[in-house]
Formats: sequence, C-alpha cells, structure tokens
Amino acid sequence: MSPSRLPSPTERFRLAPAPDGLSVVQDLLNTRAIAPYGLPDLIADGDTASATWGERLSDDDAATLRALRADVEAAIAGELAPIPAVTVELVPDSDGSVRLSPTGTGADYIASQIWAEVLLAQQADTWRRLKRCKNEACGSAFYDRSRNNSGVWHDVKTCGNVANLRASRARKKAQV
Ligand SMILES: [Zn+2]
Repeated sequence: MSPSRLPSPTERFRLAPAPDGLSVVQDLLNTRAIAPYGLPDLIADGDTASATWGERLSDDDAATLRALRADVEAAIAGELAPIPAVTVELVPDSDGSVRLSPTGTGADYIASQIWAEVLLAQQADTWRRLKRCKNEACGSAFYDRSRNNSGVWHDVKTCGNVANLRASRARKKAQV
C-alpha cells in the first residue's frame, strides 16, 4: 500500500468491504456526497473521478458514472427503470471455466464491470446483503453480515443512534 493511496470510497465510512467483486459496486455507491459526515462527491468531475479510480477519466465519464451510480441505487431498491443493455464478454479459460470480462473504455468499461459484478453477486446470493443506510441523509452502502440479514444502518452507533434519538424526542413531544 503506497502512502499516497487515497482511502477507498467505502473506507471513508470505516466500513468493511463487501466480499469479492461486490466491493467495487459498494465503492461506486459510496462515492456519493454525504453532507452529515462532510464527505464530498468523489465523482463530481473528471479530476475527482480520476483520483478515485486511479485512471484518467473525463468530465463526461464522471457524468456517466453518476448516472450509473443512480441506476445501481435504483437496482438495490428494486426500482430500476429500463436502461440500455450493457456489453460484457464471456471468456472460456483453458481449464473450461468461464469468466465475465468487462468491455469498453473509460466509464463504459466501469459500467460493464459493475453490472457483471451485480450479476455474479446475484448468483452468489450476496446481492441482497448489499444495502444502503436507512438514514436518508446518509445512504452509504454497507454489506450486511448479520445472520438474518436484518441490518438497516451503516453504523448503529451513528446513524442508528440519530434515528433512535429522533424517535424518542418525537415520543416525548407527543406526550406533552
Ligand atoms: Zn448511515
């Protein structure tokens, strides 16, 4: 790990990465600006997107990535409107195993990679464990490792606590 390496988008929340390639999807979701935690949008323009991905991306690429992020958020919510098909290659290896290989360049390559990982996670049944924090002001993406997949907060001590405080204040108010 080089000292100049930026923390991953997910590391900004001190969250553990999702397993396998699903962590790439989680990282995309966690590029979003989260005002309560003072975190900026990591794909706001080409320069910030390049620094986040470690490769040269244009302002157009950054715009494509923001649209992709919104699509993946909708997919997690189970409310994705129809989008154009995404291309990915099937590459049979010498031992007979087949892998998905993203195609394209720039943001198109990233979109191909992201949807391929979503497919693999759905087949591995890990997709349903990638969630967004129920605190709407937060919405960070976390991987739910609870046994019954019941987690709703990215961190019960922060976002969960804020919600509990609000609920108890509302209850007190209602009693006055
Ligand atoms: Zn949260």
